[in-house]
Amino acid sequence: MSANIIDGREFALKLRARVAKQVTELKADHGLMPGLAVVLAGDDPASQVYVRNKNVATREAGMKSEEIRLADDVSQADVLEIVERLNADPSIHGILVQLPLPSQVDEAAIIDAIDPAKDVDGFHVINTGRQAVGLDAMVPCTPTGCIMMLKDRLGDLSGLNAVVVGRSNIVGKPMASLLLGENCTVTIAHSRTKDLPAICRSADILVAAVGRPEMIKGDWVKPGATVIDVGVNRIALDTGKTRLVGDVCFSEAVEVAGAITPVPGGVGPMTIACLLANTVTAACRIAGVPEPEIK
Ligand code: NDP
Repeated sequence: MSANIIDGREFALKLRARVAKQVTELKADHGLMPGLAVVLAGDDPASQVYVRNKNVATREAGMKSEEIRLADDVSQADVLEIVERLNADPSIHGILVQLPLPSQVDEAAIIDAIDPAKDVDGFHVINTGRQAVGLDAMVPCTPTGCIMMLKDRLGDLSGLNAVVVGRSNIVGKPMASLLLGENCTVTIAHSRTKDLPAICRSADILVAAVGRPEMIKGDWVKPGATVIDVGVNRIALDTGKTRLVGDVCFSEAVEVAGAITPVPGGVGPMTIACLLANTVTAACRIAGVPEPEIK
């Protein structure tokens, strides 16, 4: 039997429409226009596409959008200076520094310099720590989008076995922490995990955030499980063209899972929609106005 396909594009469009409505109300009721600044250093083609999409989405939601493009050889001091300027700019409520940064720039130092209140990526250690202990925090966009789709599909996640493959600070760890917050029994797997297929087969919820094309095979998936594929991998085809695939072998997993996100069209669009929602949340918290119920 074929799984239900979780349509991240449609889900994201609905969320973006809700965010746009909230922005209109914030402007009318409080004279507040949320603003997002995106900093892009270097000429990585994938990052350029992400940043362009983020800016278009920000403007479409009625928010202020500022894009700062820096050369590949930009110095750390120059990036820090820009972050400081954005921290002090009252019209900017969200700051996103697109990763990866060029090798001469220390990513950790740049993330650490972002005002935690404007850290809409949720990567600052203050936000990571607050989220881990259950306090209000800016939560990373990709895991937030995954949780929203899971709750929409499954309702209450309490007691479900969740396996997260990948333990990065930007996806795997916050994903596991959010699932724990939803009362799942969580296993985090990584490159040193023994018998990964068996661990994956124990999952009611299987989240793949690895960065290895189609690594997770159909027979690693428990029948009826909900599979969230975060991976985005570009592979070369025999025709000379390229194609995006996830970390899950979709054609196999779709025959076993109860529901699955496709790549593209699954997690990716939700990441951008959650970035907009985080920017509205940040703007409200900074301005001291009630936060709209967006999520
Ligand atoms: P990282 O490279 O930072 O982390 C990858 C993780 O996968 C690591 O924890 C690593 O383990 C683990 N891993 C690697 N190989 C294996 C293996 N053979 N078996 C088990 N675990 C393994 O990647 P990210 O978390 O940043 O991203 C993961 C994927 O998600 C990428 O494809 C990325 O493009 C995509 N992504 C998509 C987003 C979206 O919006 N759709 C947003 C962000 C990322 P170890 O720690 O032991 O090295």
